[in-house]
Amino acid sequence: TIQTYKCIGCGTALQSDHPDAAGYVPKSAIDKEDIICKRCFRLKHYNEVQDVNISDEQFENIIRGLKDVNGLIVKVVDAYDIEGSWIEDLNHLIGRKDLILVINKMDILPHAMNHTRFKQWVYKRLKENKIKVLDIVLMSAIKGNGLTELMESIVKHQLDRDVYIIGTTNVGKSTLINKLIESSVGDKDVVTTSFFPGTTLDMIDIPLDENHFIFDTPGIVYPHQLSYYLSRDDLKLVTPKKEIKQRIFQLSSDQSVFIGGFARISVEFTTDDERLPFVFFQNNEIHLHRRKTEDSDAFWLEHIGGLLTPPTSSIENLKDSLQTYRFNAGQERLDIVISGLGFITIPAYAAIEVTTLNRLKVESRISIFE
Ligand code: GDP
Repeated sequence: TIQTYKCIGCGTALQSDHPDAAGYVPKSAIDKEDIICKRCFRLKHYNEVQDVNISDEQFENIIRGLKDVNGLIVKVVDAYDIEGSWIEDLNHLIGRKDLILVINKMDILPHAMNHTRFKQWVYKRLKENKIKVLDIVLMSAIKGNGLTELMESIVKHQLDRDVYIIGTTNVGKSTLINKLIESSVGDKDVVTTSFFPGTTLDMIDIPLDENHFIFDTPGIVYPHQLSYYLSRDDLKLVTPKKEIKQRIFQLSSDQSVFIGGFARISVEFTTDDERLPFVFFQNNEIHLHRRKTEDSDAFWLEHIGGLLTPPTSSIENLKDSLQTYRFNAGQERLDIVISGLGFITIPAYAAIEVTTLNRLKVESRISIFE
């Protein structure tokens, strides 16, 4: 019945079942007059933005709504899951727009990374998708690194327009916006102008200067992202909070390494059948387990949620949800990138099989490490 009530802040339908979804209010608040949702509440009282999850359809509608605005788009992706957090079809959804790409959470990538190669790979990725960007800003919202660069880029490219921040859930959009609020608005009450009149449904606007706003759009979780399949607790375990430590395995062609219970890397071939170094970059909380490939199928099914963790419990129909991909490195080392599960650097001329949940994206790139 509460579905009939709307948040007087953003206009979204209220509900009290899903704290992370749009329009959440605690049950105890539902009888009050002039109800505002949790997201608007936090914005009003704490000048703090919080992301909510919405359905694919709602998300597409909101993003598509940007087609008709003349604004500057800031798209935020997660450095640890660029593939997964990429918004596909952006051109198709909003047409050619002025776009700044923010790659957030750079602090979790290893310091040894070559930033130039990293950017080159991103540019290649953009070119393949026929996406033009005005700028790429590498940043760490949590540490505030890159914030000034982003502000300068926004000011330079804004050209008397509003700014729209988009991104999937968990890329750090709220953290970023909260930093922007701190630095651009200070502790002025950010909601005075945005709160009641003329708010766009499901968008929150933050004054940027006298005449312009930053609009925060809600995010989604795509089925090709690991987080789609995880409980809140497991999501915490797989999401890195600080710099990833590399873990090196010397592997021969009959060996596999499990990444928790989510993926298995099986070495098919190494030059001269030697043991060679395979470098794993996963959140330190994820257990990596070496095993002979031979009997590892049964081992997986038996030990997922136990020895092979996270996940902390089994995955339903695991056996039928797996898919295998094959990669051959040429003369350069490759990074194999698995959505939400970091990456593995494999030696030149090695061949591997990656088996993982079939909807996750698995890609390769020339290694971004020296
Ligand atoms: P949103 O869903 O896109 O709004 O993402 P949040 O801002 O809620 O952030 C999701 C998670 O990523 C939280 O646990 C944040 O603390 C974390 N996070 C955000 N920005 C960064 C960053 O720059 N570095 C790291 N290591 N974590 C971040």
